[in-house]
Amino acid sequence: MQTITILGSTGSIGVSTLDVIARHPDRYRVFALTAHSRVAELAQQCRQFRPQVAVVGSAAAAKELADLLREMGLPTQVEYGQHALCAVASAAGCDTVMAAIVGAAGLEPSLAAARAGKKLLLANKEALVMSGQMFMDAVNENGATLLPIDSEHNAIFQCLPQSFGRAPEDHGVAKIVLTASGGPFLRRDVATLEAVTPEEAVAHPNWVMGRKISVDSATMMNKGLEVIEAHWLFGAPAEKIEVLIHPQSVIHSMVSYVDGSLLAQLGNPDMRTPIAHALAYPERIASGVEPVDLVKIGQLHFLAPDFQRFPCLKLAYDALNEGGSTAAVLNAANEVAVQAFLDREIGFRKIDQLIHRVMDRLPGRAVSGLEDLLEQDREARRLARDCLIA
Ligand code: NAD
Ligand code: MG
Repeated sequence: MQTITILGSTGSIGVSTLDVIARHPDRYRVFALTAHSRVAELAQQCRQFRPQVAVVGSAAAAKELADLLREMGLPTQVEYGQHALCAVASAAGCDTVMAAIVGAAGLEPSLAAARAGKKLLLANKEALVMSGQMFMDAVNENGATLLPIDSEHNAIFQCLPQSFGRAPEDHGVAKIVLTASGGPFLRRDVATLEAVTPEEAVAHPNWVMGRKISVDSATMMNKGLEVIEAHWLFGAPAEKIEVLIHPQSVIHSMVSYVDGSLLAQLGNPDMRTPIAHALAYPERIASGVEPVDLVKIGQLHFLAPDFQRFPCLKLAYDALNEGGSTAAVLNAANEVAVQAFLDREIGFRKIDQLIHRVMDRLPGRAVSGLEDLLEQDREARRLARDCLIA
């Protein structure tokens, strides 16, 4: 029996994780569930999955949740705040942690799970992008098992020989090929992009996801963050990580070997496949996802990415090449810009312009530890907000 903490259980990944878990009550038990503000949904999840602990974002939300749980007659203990998130991510009562909080808010709890040597299922790519080497060191020094949930990285993991962490060259890997759908604006006239609405930007052609990652997919910053994520997970240098646009999202990514072999993982675009893979690894369990019908799909299409249309992808490669805290600065500026776009404060093209400005003004530095990283993150956010007003 595996006991699981789900950080961000009310989000898109959290709900898909609970869907897979509910199919296998003999294998998985929920230890803790966490949500930021969707208290009613969290209470319903508590009713179904009976966790020992539930964590929310504020004292007011905690009171509201405790009242609801009392009415339901549930004994679930209610906590709130970052400290409580770190506690349930590292508690002795759980052996597996699904890190599915969106953005930098997930860094400390994800890192706490790594430091506690948990089996860590990582969806929260921003945490790894920000902390890079620090995160991988925490995994390696504490015997944690890191399994990628991002569909691309999960696909690459499945296509690599299973000895994680060694240099890819050792296995004859020539290149990692990250596939990208190109998002909703792949074929839209670039001149009209500034005027797109948040509703258009979050309407992803293949995947149903949270709002932040949906906007990231429209700018292709999501793929940029994934390039950085792949660098840390698989120890591959930037020049060995290639992005390929594949609008159908059936091939989730590929690994190219020096002998000419190209290995791919295919599946319907449904996150329950990588979630089930990581939950059961190295075994396989049913996820509820239909098998791919290649006859129905008929053809698969590919094209090269265009940096003019998607400048965020180029900015992410630049951040990876610069090193230090540059990726954390890029991530912070992106989080501020995406929120401002969703709040209709700025147009779509201002997202990449704002990130570019922040990166120009705040060159990355060496990172001396978690506190320093969090301070650099705050500094980048302050600057990004100043640039929004200016
Ligand atoms: P979402 O917005 O649907 O859910 C986010 C979850 O995080 C919610 O449970 C929310 O309560 C919680 N949360 C938000 N802000 C918080 C805060 N400040 N403190 C604590 N908790 C907070 O997002 P999602 O689409 O499920 O994505 C989650 C993560 O997984 C992201 O990092 C995303 O990049 C990654 N991811 C998602 C998908 C997908 O298909 N949705 C695919 C690959 C990777
Ligand atoms: Mg992905």
